Amino acid sequence: MKTLLRLVGLTRPFAWWMLLAALIGFATIGSGIGLLMTSAWLITRGAMLLPVAALQSGIAGVRIFGASRGFLRYAERLISHNTTFRILTRLRLWFYEAVEPLAPARLAIYRSADLMKRIVDDIQSLENIYARVIAPPVTALMVTALMWVLVGSWSTGAAFGVLVCQLVAGLAVPVVTAILARGTAREIAGLQAEQQLLAVDMVQGLGELRVFGTLDAHLTRMQTTEEKKLGLEKRAAAVEGVQETLSGVAMNAAVVWILWQMLPMVRNGSVSTVTITALIFGVIASFEAFLPLTGSIQHIEADIRAGERLFEIIDTEPEVKVPEHPEPFPGKGSIEARNLRFTYPGSIRPAIEEVTFSVAQGGRVAIVGPSGAGKSTIASLLVRFWNPTGGSLAISGREITDFDPEELRRNIAVVSQRTYLFGQSIRENLLLAAPEASDEVLKKALSAAGLDSLQNRLDDWAGQHGMNLSGGERQRIAIARMILQDAPFIVLDEATANLDAVTEQAVLDTIDHTCEGRTVLAITHRLHRMERFDDIVVLHEGRIVEQGRHEELISRDGFYAGMWRLQHETAV
Ligand code: ATP
Repeated sequence: MKTLLRLVGLTRPFAWWMLLAALIGFATIGSGIGLLMTSAWLITRGAMLLPVAALQSGIAGVRIFGASRGFLRYAERLISHNTTFRILTRLRLWFYEAVEPLAPARLAIYRSADLMKRIVDDIQSLENIYARVIAPPVTALMVTALMWVLVGSWSTGAAFGVLVCQLVAGLAVPVVTAILARGTAREIAGLQAEQQLLAVDMVQGLGELRVFGTLDAHLTRMQTTEEKKLGLEKRAAAVEGVQETLSGVAMNAAVVWILWQMLPMVRNGSVSTVTITALIFGVIASFEAFLPLTGSIQHIEADIRAGERLFEIIDTEPEVKVPEHPEPFPGKGSIEARNLRFTYPGSIRPAIEEVTFSVAQGGRVAIVGPSGAGKSTIASLLVRFWNPTGGSLAISGREITDFDPEELRRNIAVVSQRTYLFGQSIRENLLLAAPEASDEVLKKALSAAGLDSLQNRLDDWAGQHGMNLSGGERQRIAIARMILQDAPFIVLDEATANLDAVTEQAVLDTIDHTCEGRTVLAITHRLHRMERFDDIVVLHEGRIVEQGRHEELISRDGFYAGMWRLQHETAV
């Protein structure tokens, strides 16, 4: 119930639109009632062989209600769809704004397909919250009041019976149907989510499934899920049949009740057969308002489930919070880490322990070590993807937690091993780093990054994940982005790890040239051109095992010298 109220609360800014759509929805059904009543009146009086003049008002009524019903239905659809899309837009923005601060720390526990399902399908399914959950009961309530007045003005007893039948169709039938279909919508939604996960695994892991010979088992799992879903859908269809039958019974019971109550009135002359016929047809038409109520109750279940899945993410506390009074970012400066510690949530072993180093303004420091030593963790802490578990990490003497994380990230350009390129044009991929940059500026950045060949291809599509570009070009685009960002701090996280030796040398030259005058923290396990660093921090299993300049470390003949020899001998 709490979830439902929260969901309804989210639609509050559109209350007037929803009310307008509900009123027009009511007017549409009202026109339908009017159309059937005037038609019944016209046919009955026509059967009495009355002159045409005596039928004129009925003919006019049929024309007016017939035309207005179509027009009103169109207006109702237009406004309710408009309202639904406005609500969906608001929900998407609301969700996105809430999710963004959670990345990446709090989102790491979700599988990407699961997150996609929540962002796309769960929000999409909430479009029903207005169209199927809020609007139908409001319209049904108005129609109930109209019929009470209409029938009640002739016979309270008849109106009472009609009310009971309407309550049966609008309340009892949906509740019974919901009990019969209990959990079906939830189970179908769960199976749909599973199908999506399996499909994503199938597409992305097709190679592995083939190589390990598990493709058939995966297909069987997909088929089993589909069969289960089909079974549940059959059950849902059977329940729908029961609902339609029961609603029909309630409607016919209302008709019988009116006849039973009002036929004696015909006999004593207090009401005409024409009136009874018109009322009966009006009552039949009014049941149109109660049919969607079963859907309302069924959708409530699915909407609550979708809402729960969204709120589960929304209610997560972000790892990184914006300080109440953020310090202004100092611009150029130094980086200092003192006794820095960090343990990933759920992990027992610290990823880094008691790490101390500093990078002077305009200086260059390398963090090296074998895979899993904790190098990238330091970069993640610096850009505040995570908060340190202990110790201090400062920029120009100020704890990084004192700055606004957004401003901090704007001032630190990161070139990582895995450059993500969006499936857009090269221009759009570059504008990410400098949204206002002109084509001239973009071309200069491309040229500085050694990508003269792309200068005239700004409109070219980069391909899915940048697949239309070579590994070297992708990495150089990351450097062009770094140039465009023009940040005083640079973090190079295995920036050349995926490149062949020749390209690596060229990219390193470009980086060296670009980083001139900036404070650079380079993370690498490949020991190339290490002489250019002011200090080298050697990490092993999260701890500093050695520290100093390249020549110093080589002459010490310790862990670093061993790594260096191993790499160079292997290369030779
Ligand atoms: P590589 O050179 O292979 O990238 P690295 O030195 O950069 O390695 P980190 O990525 O910092 O190492 O990882 C340090 C330790 O923290 C490893 O033991 C790793 O398994 C663990 N780790 C990294 N990311 C996470 C995470 N998101 N959740 C839990 N543990 C993690």
